[in-house]
Amino acid sequence: PDASGNYTVSLIPGDGIGPEISQSVKDIYTAAKVPIKWEEVDVTPVLKNGKTSIPEDAIISIKKNTVALKGPLATPIGKGHVSLNLTLRRTFSLFANVRPCVSIQGYKTAYDNVNTVLIRENTEGEYSGIEHEIVDGVVQSIKLITYDASERVARYAFHYASEHGRNKVTAIHKANIMKMSDGMFLQACRAVAKEYPKITYDEDLLDRACLRIVQNPEPYADQVMVMPNLYGDILSDMCAGLIGGLGLTPSGNIGKDASIFEAVHGSAPDIAGKGLANPSALLLSSLMMLRHMNLFDKAEQIEKAILGTIAEGKHITGDLGGKASTQEFTDRIISKL
Ligand code: NAD
Repeated sequence: PDASGNYTVSLIPGDGIGPEISQSVKDIYTAAKVPIKWEEVDVTPVLKNGKTSIPEDAIISIKKNTVALKGPLATPIGKGHVSLNLTLRRTFSLFANVRPCVSIQGYKTAYDNVNTVLIRENTEGEYSGIEHEIVDGVVQSIKLITYDASERVARYAFHYASEHGRNKVTAIHKANIMKMSDGMFLQACRAVAKEYPKITYDEDLLDRACLRIVQNPEPYADQVMVMPNLYGDILSDMCAGLIGGLGLTPSGNIGKDASIFEAVHGSAPDIAGKGLANPSALLLSSLMMLRHMNLFDKAEQIEKAILGTIAEGKHITGDLGGKASTQEFTDRIISKL
């Protein structure tokens, strides 16, 4: 913190609904007197040496503050653009993506006991972005797995489990088919598991894990799942579905040089600018950020107000079956602080 006790955090408002949900977070933080100064940065891509890059000012801000909150960024499909999200992950070596999914008491879904934590390798795998056309009509897309990146994300998963009182880590894979790539991912997980004798280590096939979680999420409540990039992308949206959808799921990108917290959802162009977006996912991501910064009391206080507002059910947004605008939902949370 600075001399007046404030922490500076970089804020990327993002595209589509990004600015609306970012405003909601800012309003709630002001009302809750959270000791944070936002440093807004623009990440509209620039070309540097022929490659898509983020503006230097944004890089400097995030490197300096080491913590950022980020709204969703739209990625144009099939225009040869490198995803800006990918660029951010690479620029700051954001090697682990943490996605907790917890049932929200008072918001009715098929299960009320979901409590999964999924940790996704964030820099390579199926999303290494190496694709080329071999001949007309035949393309190749490379799934790149390195021992180093696998070991790094595995170590973070065991660290997270031990810090959060979860007694089991399960590696999710398809090594029965992708013997070399997923096989090496498992080797790295097994090696790290030996360093954590108090935590049980287990492995499960991706398809089997999907089936089991939707049939009964309860056994997953005391463990952490760790997996390669694409599997984590899909499995985390599935888990989000179990607790009420993308408007509710937070995430944190943990890195060597910085950590960036963001909602799991995208820029929702279908409802952008209409004041209808649910800011909960970004807000819950910001609470992961506060806890990462050891600001536990403020996180607790705001979390109670959000969950209370959702459970009450009177001022919730359309995605949760309510009629409230982003502003009305935000005001209700503020009234509960
Ligand atoms: P999306 O998550 O933006 O939207 C999917 C559906 O969920 C839409 O119907 C949307 O209205 C709804 N939704 C999402 N967030 C909501 C919220 N907070 N409140 C209420 N409803 C919400 O996914 P998409 O449409 O596939 O992607 C749109 C754009 O976002 C694309 O350009 C994509 O590349 C980008 N995207 C970015 C990120 C990121 O920045 N991390 C993640 C996913 C997608």
